[in-house]
Amino acid sequence: MAIERTFSILKPDATRRNLTGAINARFESAGLRIVAQRRIRMTQAQAMKFYEIHKDRPFYGELVSFMTSGPVVVQVLEGENAVARNREIMGATNPQNAAPGTIRKDFAESIEANSVHGSDSLENAATEIGLFFDESDIVG
Ligand code: GDP
Repeated sequence: MAIERTFSILKPDATRRNLTGAINARFESAGLRIVAQRRIRMTQAQAMKFYEIHKDRPFYGELVSFMTSGPVVVQVLEGENAVARNREIMGATNPQNAAPGTIRKDFAESIEANSVHGSDSLENAATEIGLFFDESDIVG
């Protein structure tokens, strides 16, 4: 297995409920290292670009407004198989379908306000990391 980096976001529903530490504890206890982290307010332009792949979906406008509704924490997680490992820890997009013990099962409010984002491929991880971090921000 390879050491990988993946991109993660703690979404506004998580920061609003003071869940940064609780969610970070899930990553760290699963062996993922938080090698870069910044709390930001996403601009509308950033959110639109980040979720551009969903621009034709009916929920795109709502999703952009949710992602800009409060602070988010953008992160780079590093570890063995980090992309797939993080997707496992996060659980399914819809918390109603998420497995017991996953972040979304335990913390998500809805299919939209589902507490976390995690890259779905190594290629997307590199692209997404590059939208928010310079290489010098990442300390492994
Ligand atoms: P993810 O990779 O598990 O985050 O899922 P997707 O890439 O399919 O969707 C991106 C994000 O859009 C999700 O994490 C949700 O925040 C939101 N989303 C997905 N499906 C829906 C939906 O049916 N309705 C709404 N309102 N939001 C959705």
